[in-house]
Amino acid sequence: MKVLVINCGSSSLKYQVLDMTNEMLLAKGLVERIGMEGSVITHEKIGMDKFKLVTPMEDHKDAIEQVLMAVQDKNHGVVASMNEIGAVGHRVVHAGEKYAESVLITEEVIKALEECIELAPLHNPPNLLGIAACRQLMPNTPMIAVFDTAFHQTMPPESYIYAIPYEYYTKHGIRRYGFHGTSHKYVAQRASAMLNINLDELKLITCHLGNGASVSAIKRGKCIDTSMGFTPLEGLVMGTRSGDIDPAIVTYIREKENLPQGVANEILNKKSGVLGISGVSSDFRDLEAAVEDGNERAMLALQVFAHKVRFYIGAYIAEMNGCDAIVFTAGVGENDVMMRELICNNLGNLGIKLDPIKNKVRGKETIISMEDAKVKLLLIPTNEELMIARDAYSIASRLK
Ligand code: AMP
Repeated sequence: MKVLVINCGSSSLKYQVLDMTNEMLLAKGLVERIGMEGSVITHEKIGMDKFKLVTPMEDHKDAIEQVLMAVQDKNHGVVASMNEIGAVGHRVVHAGEKYAESVLITEEVIKALEECIELAPLHNPPNLLGIAACRQLMPNTPMIAVFDTAFHQTMPPESYIYAIPYEYYTKHGIRRYGFHGTSHKYVAQRASAMLNINLDELKLITCHLGNGASVSAIKRGKCIDTSMGFTPLEGLVMGTRSGDIDPAIVTYIREKENLPQGVANEILNKKSGVLGISGVSSDFRDLEAAVEDGNERAMLALQVFAHKVRFYIGAYIAEMNGCDAIVFTAGVGENDVMMRELICNNLGNLGIKLDPIKNKVRGKETIISMEDAKVKLLLIPTNEELMIARDAYSIASRLK
């Protein structure tokens, strides 16, 4: 069976087509500037040059139509007709407490996801637009929703309850949900395969360090804690997000700077993180180049970032009473040799010893700890699309 994976943002859309008989990636692409001037689709049949088409796309339905045309194109397509696509897997950010696993999309599921819009106002609406467009254009193909929050639903209440009046949880659903779940789950499974140890015998700490960043504690295959919270703003320092701060800072800055409604939120989400500290960039490559030129605030930003990752690693070792392996994944985790050094520096008493030679590697599944280290350090490129395709394939296969 071939599976189409759709990841819809507000003005962009990423997609892949995979053949699930051998989990081979057949094609991938990106639609940008949906609903704006200069809408463009970039499509790549694996093994062929990229193909780019600038064409008006007013909404997500237009964008999905372009995707379907590209996927069936005579020259760079990968299917003769859409009948060859046995399922569509949709990435959906927030399922609240409703779903702990991927589900077949029905009217009832759509209603439940609409109820979660308040919890993820930026993410769930475009996800739902993508689902609606696909259902309209492919009415007979099973659609499966795969949620960022699902993997974290196994957390115990002491991890997800905030110490604020309890009725805010019961009335408004204010609790830790956690995000990047598909990525944390994927790398945990790969870690188990690489170490040749069953997941239910492992204590893992998975560090998803990209533009958005989160850490999870995974004990016996189940997430027991994660650093992102009610929204993806909590936890680690990120590209442009503050991560954990004293909540009193928000009201204080609002008053001192006389900020209008909503601006504080925007500052914490878009102008903070390593960008905010350095004043240089949210991209770690730019920061490291600035450090080379002697920029001290860029160095400080990297140090604050590393400090927070170390802080969570320590916390999760305590929560799990030990740890067998720490996984680094996503843009920074997979590629940033210097950041992995900063994070792992001087943790020998915890059994964490990075091998500086093995660490000089990017984007490849490999072990980067010293031979004699108690805690294995693993570099594992994430693959959320493959996880989405697997769930879509497995659910669609059961319908036959
Ligand atoms: P992601 O959100 O997982 O796509 O990660 C994107 C981020 O990864 C970028 O903003 C960069 O900060 C970081 N990144 C990507 N490649 C490198 C690299 N070679 N060295 C350092 N950081 C990198």
